[in-house]
Amino acid sequence: MKTLSPFAQKSSQTRGRERPLSPCPVRTEFVRDRDRIIHCKSFRRLKHKTQVFLSPVGDHYRTRLTHTLEVSQIARTISRALRLNEDLTEAIAMGHDLGHTPFGHSGEKVLNDLVPGGFEHNVQSLRIVEKLENGVGLNLTYEVRDGILNHKKSGHPCTLEGAVVSLADRIAYVNHDIDDAIRAGLLTNEILPKSCIEKIGRTHGERINALIMDILSVSFGRNYVRMSEEMMTEFDKLRDYLFENLYHDPRAKAEEGKAEGVVETLYKHYLKNIDGLPEDFKKYIDEDGRERVAADYIACMTDRYAVRDYERLFVPKDWN
Ligand code: MG
Repeated sequence: MKTLSPFAQKSSQTRGRERPLSPCPVRTEFVRDRDRIIHCKSFRRLKHKTQVFLSPVGDHYRTRLTHTLEVSQIARTISRALRLNEDLTEAIAMGHDLGHTPFGHSGEKVLNDLVPGGFEHNVQSLRIVEKLENGVGLNLTYEVRDGILNHKKSGHPCTLEGAVVSLADRIAYVNHDIDDAIRAGLLTNEILPKSCIEKIGRTHGERINALIMDILSVSFGRNYVRMSEEMMTEFDKLRDYLFENLYHDPRAKAEEGKAEGVVETLYKHYLKNIDGLPEDFKKYIDEDGRERVAADYIACMTDRYAVRDYERLFVPKDWN
């Protein structure tokens, strides 16, 4: 495409897939990857996975699916304005959180403590698209897989599109978690750190806009994507504030101990009863070990599936 930045990843120059496909007459390779992700079961399960608030009853709270859509929107806006590859950006955004466990970071923490070699949702997202979806993976291009694996702050994606998704992920969750926390009565706009509000903005929309515009002004025409130092300082301060005050708020945390208990109990149960798992999971026992396969099975569950499975296995039924 002649309109793309010289620093964009062109689909014609992809490092390709593990199993080559015959070309599609109308879609580029990255568009196909986006489509493969949207049509997969792991993607549909995101709608019943926790973002921050566990199994929220209120219909207006974010779920992992709406988080993913917000990341995609922010990332595409940035990519398009920087003339990067919007299709690659969208594919990475749609796939970045496929590996999240039930109950959000509480579930992730439990598996990370229990499974030899640890458990991280970005690595698990990659396992889903490379191996677990339908027992064969989605056979995505290298650049999409790289962006999914490297979407956390500590990651180093090989494309600028991957860097865009990593920033968009943080912009999305910091802002929508504030919005949901205000909805839940856990925060008010007034108690957020003053300097952050002054630099980034007073409202949800103002803040997202300011963060995006800052990235565009620093990164346009460059071979990197980043925020200005001054914006990054205030944004990190806001993010730290949420980690200290919201993510560890005892009112938001109250149910988390129970959620952790469900994940731990299910993990131990399936580790002992690994032969009962579906073939698509069991086939990786020799390659990756029983512990990893048990974790795969738990990680794929939605919040409500995990609760129902726990009830089925461990809560006595009454006689009707
Ligand atoms: Mg995310």
